[in-house]
Amino acid sequence: MSITPIIGQDTLQKFIFDNAAVRGEFIDISATWREVLSRHAYPAPVKKLLGEMVAAAALLSANLKFNGSIIMQIHGDGPVRLLVVECDAELHLRATAKIDPEAVIADDAKLPSLLNAHGKGRFIITLDPADKMPGQQPYQGIVPLDGDDVGTVIENYMLRSEQLDTKLWLAADDNVSRGLLLQKLPYNGGKTEAAPLTEDEALETWNRAVILGSTLKEEELLSTTIDVLMQRLFWEETIRVFDPLHPAFHCTCTREKVGNMLKMLGRAEVDSVLEEQGHVGVNCDFCGQRYDYDKVDCAQLFATDAPVEALIPAGEVKH
Ligand SMILES: [Zn+2]
Repeated sequence: MSITPIIGQDTLQKFIFDNAAVRGEFIDISATWREVLSRHAYPAPVKKLLGEMVAAAALLSANLKFNGSIIMQIHGDGPVRLLVVECDAELHLRATAKIDPEAVIADDAKLPSLLNAHGKGRFIITLDPADKMPGQQPYQGIVPLDGDDVGTVIENYMLRSEQLDTKLWLAADDNVSRGLLLQKLPYNGGKTEAAPLTEDEALETWNRAVILGSTLKEEELLSTTIDVLMQRLFWEETIRVFDPLHPAFHCTCTREKVGNMLKMLGRAEVDSVLEEQGHVGVNCDFCGQRYDYDKVDCAQLFATDAPVEALIPAGEVKH
């Protein structure tokens, strides 16, 4: 079980315990994470939370047998209003945070005070199929924020909503975003060729995997490559490693999507900005790309009857 990392390329490494009781994934998504950070200036505690969500979204996405995008959001009722990460089936990701501009965020602030100050924070997972039928709505799961960190919130969601025992170890800072996911596979009589696994043995494998995972400290995750961690944690286990996947930063914004968002805002709103500014400027919340619309562009937008389709507004109107 060896992984050959390519410098500057992110890696997601899937593996399975050979008795098929547990599957796992290690991720180093640091390059993608630095792409996100190069477009935004966030306080350190927000970087930590969003960076961990970036790792978690890719881990969950790679785990799904689903052709489409996973959109992971935390809607906050504290100084942080929104954290959002989108990841498609190719593991192309983008992420952004919305922070109350008036807020003063302490360096040691944690998830509960940042996002769940009044107990009204929400964790939302949306699965948006790539090949949607006309009129088909994306699947959306919304739960209260149950947990004091990103990993625990997702573990609780997976257990309650998907009935899947999942454990996550996540860490992120200015440069690095890494994580480990372990998931208990549904017991199906065992897959070992020599002898089928009993249910107790399958449970034992799961418990042992979780104990090994729990030895992983945040500092160690931040400072150690995933191939080293894999050896360090699971060297005594019989593990099958799959071909590595390579997540990457990619923003899906287009002039057409921003145009649709302006159409949803409505003619009156757009006209009032036009009157005030002489043009409408929109910056993509995810990548910072600027889109400008003059009077002629806006007139064209509202002249067509094309249906409006946008799941998440791509930006907000700025001058
Ligand atoms: Zn963009």
